[in-house]
Amino acid sequence: MDDVILPGNTIGVFGGGQLGRMIAIAAKRMGYRAVVLDPTPDCPAGQVADDEITAPYTDVTAAKELARRCAVVTAEFENVPADTLEAIEPIVPVRPSSRVLRIAQNRIAEKTFLAEHGFPVPKFRTVRSREELLCAVSEIGCPAVLKTATGGYDGKGQVRIEHPDEAERAWERLGKVDCVLEEFVLLEREVSVIVARNLRGEEAVYPVAENTHSRHILDTSVMLARIAPELARQAQELARAIAEALSVVGLLCVEMFVAQDGRLLVNELAPRPHNSGHQTFDAAVTSQFEQLVRAICNLPLGSTELYRPAAIANLLGDLWEGGEPNWAKALELPEVKLHLYGKAEPRPGRKMGHLTATAETPDDALRKVLEARRRLKAKEAS
Ligand code: ADP
Repeated sequence: MDDVILPGNTIGVFGGGQLGRMIAIAAKRMGYRAVVLDPTPDCPAGQVADDEITAPYTDVTAAKELARRCAVVTAEFENVPADTLEAIEPIVPVRPSSRVLRIAQNRIAEKTFLAEHGFPVPKFRTVRSREELLCAVSEIGCPAVLKTATGGYDGKGQVRIEHPDEAERAWERLGKVDCVLEEFVLLEREVSVIVARNLRGEEAVYPVAENTHSRHILDTSVMLARIAPELARQAQELARAIAEALSVVGLLCVEMFVAQDGRLLVNELAPRPHNSGHQTFDAAVTSQFEQLVRAICNLPLGSTELYRPAAIANLLGDLWEGGEPNWAKALELPEVKLHLYGKAEPRPGRKMGHLTATAETPDDALRKVLEARRRLKAKEAS
């Protein structure tokens, strides 16, 4: 057990947004110290961490300072430059490793990894030239989705192609960068599974979450997903097997499609806490954030059992358009919890916080959380 990083040590976090904030809260609750590195001062995680280093993610000198001050370093999002993480790996354990992040931050590497290991993915082709684009369109057919290999998030960096004639224009719109073209899948629903893995290879798998998106941004997530138990087991086993194949130390969220034709397909990998796991903060024996701390510190993992079904609804900046949301009105529902991330400026589309509701059934939890979110728009003293 020499390799256990005990409470009292310092955990470093690349990225000071809401995920970093919740990692820092979990770390501090367990008696660790937390230092975050983020380009913006007074970032959401910086507000709760012991210290924040303000520097761009490409600043290797700042990253090395973080490394020297910490016993282990993690990242709240997969787009921290893998080169920066690799540069500090000789100084401090980085979990998940730069190798895992390098795969997850490039759709070509990610899909190739999954396909080569026999995991089910939507049909796809790599697009690096006009010739490859035209070849890919004829092989995949339409409708299809063209996605940039790097830098895409919340639906940015992707274009749907309805007809082969649109392919070249779509690629131009994306700046003719490296892309993947994938079949457009008719979705029955979208689900995700979070897996934790520590250095000893012990694994813990969360229940399946069922997700809805609005404008390509996660809108609601319900745990347990309302799918057949056999499909849920398949999804959990798929996520576990991928985490093992990647040798992840930390968390891995596997986003999946349940296709209308019955296929279960992997859409994306996120080697970090995930928005669809926020239910675990209020409803699970061990939250995904505590689980991450345990995994990267090589402690035994906690139970992933849910106390009750739960649902979350994201709160985007748009909610502030008519003034400050009516928090008290939403919290009149006693099983609703409010999480705000400490972001000063409520810009449209920006994730400002979320609500969680627990209930007897997933349907009731979802109904309740949506009712709470509607109440945020209620006028004062109504
Ligand atoms: P991002 O990384 O920007 O979140 P995703 O690849 O996860 O991008 O796509 C965002 C959303 O777009 C998905 O959650 C899904 O709703 C839809 N989508 C993406 N790819 C496909 C596809 N091949 N077929 C059908 N819908 C898709």
